[in-house]
Amino acid sequence: MAINLSDFMDWVVSRNPGEVEFHQAVHEVAETVIPFINNNPVYEKIKVLERMAEPDRIISFRVTWASDDGEVHVNRGYRVQFNNSIGPYKGGIRFHPSVNQGVLKFLGFEQTFKNSLTGLPMGGGKGGADFDPKGKSQREIMRFCQNFMTELYRHVGQNIDVPAGDIGVGGREIGYMFGQFKRITNSFEGVLTGKGLEYGGSRMRPEATGYGAVYFLEDMLNHKEDAIEGKTVIISGSGNVATHAAEKILHRGGKPVTMSDSGGFIHDPDGFTQEKIDWIKEHKKQRGARIAAYVDEFGGTFHEGARPWSVPCELALPCATQNELNGEEAKTLLKNGCVAVSEGANMPCDMNAITAFSEAKILYAPGKASNAGGVGMSGLEMSQNSARLHREEEDLRAALKKIMGDIHKACVEQGTGPDGHVDYVKGANIAGFKKVADAMLAFGV
Ligand code: GLU
Repeated sequence: MAINLSDFMDWVVSRNPGEVEFHQAVHEVAETVIPFINNNPVYEKIKVLERMAEPDRIISFRVTWASDDGEVHVNRGYRVQFNNSIGPYKGGIRFHPSVNQGVLKFLGFEQTFKNSLTGLPMGGGKGGADFDPKGKSQREIMRFCQNFMTELYRHVGQNIDVPAGDIGVGGREIGYMFGQFKRITNSFEGVLTGKGLEYGGSRMRPEATGYGAVYFLEDMLNHKEDAIEGKTVIISGSGNVATHAAEKILHRGGKPVTMSDSGGFIHDPDGFTQEKIDWIKEHKKQRGARIAAYVDEFGGTFHEGARPWSVPCELALPCATQNELNGEEAKTLLKNGCVAVSEGANMPCDMNAITAFSEAKILYAPGKASNAGGVGMSGLEMSQNSARLHREEEDLRAALKKIMGDIHKACVEQGTGPDGHVDYVKGANIAGFKKVADAMLAFGV
């Protein structure tokens, strides 16, 4: 019997009440994958889509920690183990006050498709806590990470579930968590990725998400015989993804002019140079650092409480967080002549924005394709850990370029319409779905 999108979504919404981000992520996939399933009834028969929309398990736990002033705090930690059909659960850990079960379910669901697209053997998962690292001291961060791992350690392992960083979790936090895992288990294993080079990390991991999003943008433009060179680019966010995306845009002769944080955005009409980007990277390491300080250092303007989408540009890279670009903002981008959007963050464009881009038939890359470089490099970190070796930077850079190129190819293959326009949402969803679904088919019910 054919699946119907609205019946399926009613079922999803009723089983997951109030989890709006999760509904949004499932809807976006279901819309493009259901017609494919209806043409391939073997998937419908074993209820693949229903099973993929239900996590294997969700672990939720209390994290108790003490701040420097001695006060005791209670947070909630999670790990959503979404789907391990094609490899161990894999996906980041997010520390942010907006974290809740619905947000992590959306991220874990997306991750399953994204990881499948990388071509590497990784299932999908996501974790985190509603802990706000902003303004916390280094020792508070350390204690929180250790206490988080004191519970998480029993649910993860190099062949079970391999977390990494995400918003609020970078190399420093991974170090604290890895140290705690090793202390408790006495096992030195590749249980986390994004590690420091000294203890099993991979070269190119910090750069991979941002560089990858630009490689994907480049592939989309090249496919239309266009290029990044000479184009003005607006970027949101100012963390690891945004700064490395800006750097790669620069390498390709583009002009990145904006970055942002929760306080607002900076606009430098002269464009960021490598020196300016390096300053942002260093500045952001400081406790309580704000992007607004850039203007005192290099000039340009700061726009308090605003997002950068009204700045005229040809290319846009949303690299901050989910639903940071809405339908109205998408229309402004289109009016100003934007020709391509490549998501560095997870689901930064809301449904109205995606509809506006697809109606205008501009190049639009969903994060599960365009930001897969980060987890792709994590996959290569896992294989380096298993083989107990380090690969060289040049080799890894080429491997990243190839992963992104292969994802682009898969999207073109599954998403090209009769008029030659590539629907990257459809392409990424079907290509990501097929591999996971075929593995589930092989396992039986
Ligand atoms: N958090 C990143 C993502 O959203 C990376 C995950 C990983 O490396 O496991 O894909």
